[in-house]
Amino acid sequence: MDRRTFLLAMGALPFCAHAQPKTMKDIQTLQTNWKTFLPAGLAVPSPAEPLKLSKDEWKKRLPNDLAYKVLREEATERAGASPLNAEKRPGIYACAGCGLPLFTSEMKYESGTGWPSFFTTIPGVFDTKKDFFLIYPRQEYHCKRCGGHHGHVFEDGPPPTNQRWCNNGVALKFIPKDGGKA
Ligand SMILES: [Zn+2]
Repeated sequence: MDRRTFLLAMGALPFCAHAQPKTMKDIQTLQTNWKTFLPAGLAVPSPAEPLKLSKDEWKKRLPNDLAYKVLREEATERAGASPLNAEKRPGIYACAGCGLPLFTSEMKYESGTGWPSFFTTIPGVFDTKKDFFLIYPRQEYHCKRCGGHHGHVFEDGPPPTNQRWCNNGVALKFIPKDGGKA
């Protein structure tokens, strides 16, 4: 085998991708190990420290008008609008409103919808409610710490959870594990 053929063969191996979780036990492991995706020494808030602000305070905290509309008024960003669709580095996806860690990079998958999608979440970080914006009921979810709207959860995700947490990218802040640029 020459060098080029060898490299092509190596390229076929998923040596830099993580293994897809197969069982609910794998999912539990992802959920328990989420802190290993934080940059060393970074302190993050917990859902037990609620952040309650007035409308004006939120407007100041979220100068990006779309982030304000999504998080505080349940708007939805345009499909394909978020640079986080293409984000593949190891790290944490935190709430853009309050900094609460919500997902790890290992919980993300390519759903093809144009919104960052996840098959599970860091445990205990969201509350859900049914909404009827599109007539049929959808499961809305929001950040437990600040109440910010993030997206909707559907049941057409990959096994074993079969969940698709369809998140507005503008409602997320990516924190790379290596401390690089967000
Ligand atoms: Zn939040």
